[in-house]
Amino acid sequence: MVAKKAKIVIVGAGIAGLTTAYRLHAASHNLFDLTVFEAGNRIGGRILTADFAGDRIEMGATWIHGIGGSPVYAIATEQNLLEEPSCNWERMDGFPSDPLTVAEGGFTVNHDNLARPISSLYRHLMDDARTGDATSADGDPGVRAYLRRGLRQYQATRAANTNTGLGDDTWSLEAIEESLFAMEECTERTCTSADDLSDLNLSAESEYKEFPGDHITIAKGYSQIVEHLASALPPGTIHLGKKVCLVEWCSGDGSSPDGSPPVRLHFSDDSVVDADHVIVTVSLGVLKAGIGKGDGKGIKFDPALPDFKSKAIGRLGFGVVDKLFLQMETESREAFPFVRLAFRQDLEENGSKRHVSKIPWWIRKTESICPIYRESHVLLAWFAGKEAMHLESLNDEEIISGVHATLDGFLPSIKAGCRIASVKRSRWGTDPLFLGSYSYVSVASSVDDLDLMAEPLPRVKRGEVPRLQILFAGEATHRTHYSTTHGAYYSGIREADRLLRFYNVGN
Ligand SMILES: Cc1cc2nc3c(=O)[nH]c(=O)nc-3n(C[C@H](O)[C@H](O)[C@H](O)COP(=O)(O)OP(=O)(O)OC[C@H]3O[C@@H](n4cnc5c(N)ncnc54)[C@H](O)[C@@H]3O)c2cc1C
Repeated sequence: MVAKKAKIVIVGAGIAGLTTAYRLHAASHNLFDLTVFEAGNRIGGRILTADFAGDRIEMGATWIHGIGGSPVYAIATEQNLLEEPSCNWERMDGFPSDPLTVAEGGFTVNHDNLARPISSLYRHLMDDARTGDATSADGDPGVRAYLRRGLRQYQATRAANTNTGLGDDTWSLEAIEESLFAMEECTERTCTSADDLSDLNLSAESEYKEFPGDHITIAKGYSQIVEHLASALPPGTIHLGKKVCLVEWCSGDGSSPDGSPPVRLHFSDDSVVDADHVIVTVSLGVLKAGIGKGDGKGIKFDPALPDFKSKAIGRLGFGVVDKLFLQMETESREAFPFVRLAFRQDLEENGSKRHVSKIPWWIRKTESICPIYRESHVLLAWFAGKEAMHLESLNDEEIISGVHATLDGFLPSIKAGCRIASVKRSRWGTDPLFLGSYSYVSVASSVDDLDLMAEPLPRVKRGEVPRLQILFAGEATHRTHYSTTHGAYYSGIREADRLLRFYNVGN
């Protein structure tokens, strides 16, 4: 008699889900009945390579963050994905060592005297936070208060100098320092997805780990990483267009009353599938929507997720980061520069006599506009938080007019010779299959919440045999590499190995 195979279902075909499937398949030699259900019409999730104006671009994951030890780098090299392709791609090789920093009004900021000292101060403060050498400011657990105290201390001790060198006496030294520091904070917002750095937990920074070495993009496209994982699975393993709405499970003794498998998945097309084990890999945004009021978004659980799980989901941060690509048409032969934007922080508010700007609010927290490779006519700008959500709601004409106003305010001579022909932006915040971009540790949470995210259900007490009905993978379940593709990858390996140990398969 042939023993019945254990039925394992993976929800989500992002890198976490596909890594879980890849590992289970490779290690178990068809011991399991394995299926991946993906709500969207493609695999990859927040990894999405696209074409724009003849170039290859990344709408989501862009960088391999440090090549030393990265499993994503290992796949990319093994599969020859870093070899130069026939088309141009978002390779971000236009970073000059001394980037051009322009202050609102069109004045170039002196790199050695102004831009570099503030950038070094910022890096120094964040390095201290990463190594655990930072102390919170006045008991405030957020990163913003800590950073701002650092700026105040710097300003109190640096030599007084009234000459900003900007050729505009409306800019005081303090005002330009404020702008440059805010520009660095904007980069932090896009790196972490925290809309407000006051909500980013300072004490968690030292837990976050990065690989050493260069940060690089993938010449043949990030999507090739997930294509590689998927190609190793037997045909028919991945089912697209299958949206899970409800996961029924047995919180009690782990068996269903009629002896059928303990977990039942309900799909939006009214079909149901039973399983012995389900690995949920959807984004933290989708999980948050499921524990919220419920407007059809997100996944519901019956019985509801236990408190320890739903509270961790509720406490952790999940912000929005979007990318905006601009196709430029220009009469000039000169390449568009990599330009960092120091916006005025002292704008008119409530009728006060401060400065007025024509640049719309949603673009004022953009740190830079840069070509996606040297001399490319495709430019890229990153957005986070409220600004990103607003960008998602605008039509193309509104975006073009906002960017034109920005170029007018910063690079009037370049603006005069060029126009934006078309735009393409991501919409991770409003896409119901993501509802955001990546997770961060908020001041209400701690890295322990990331461990709680990873705990399977039902929860076991010490000495009990785990039943592993519902397992969780995905970037928001990794304690030290959350928010990244490699964190998601590691989480998939972790949950596959948990099941393999359960069935005494492999080592
Ligand atoms: C703009 C942006 C830039 C980024 N840049 C980088 C970077 O440079 N480097 C880096 O390492 N990381 C980056 N990231 C983060 C990285 O993309 C993610 O951490 C990683 O891809 C997450 O993978 P995942 O498998 O955990 O989740 P996802 O990719 O979200 O996979 C989950 C899957 O579940 C599916 N799903 C959702 N709901 C359901 C449902 N109800 N039923 C069935 N399926 C469902 C989704 O469609 C999705 O395919 C970036 C992300 C964004 C958005």
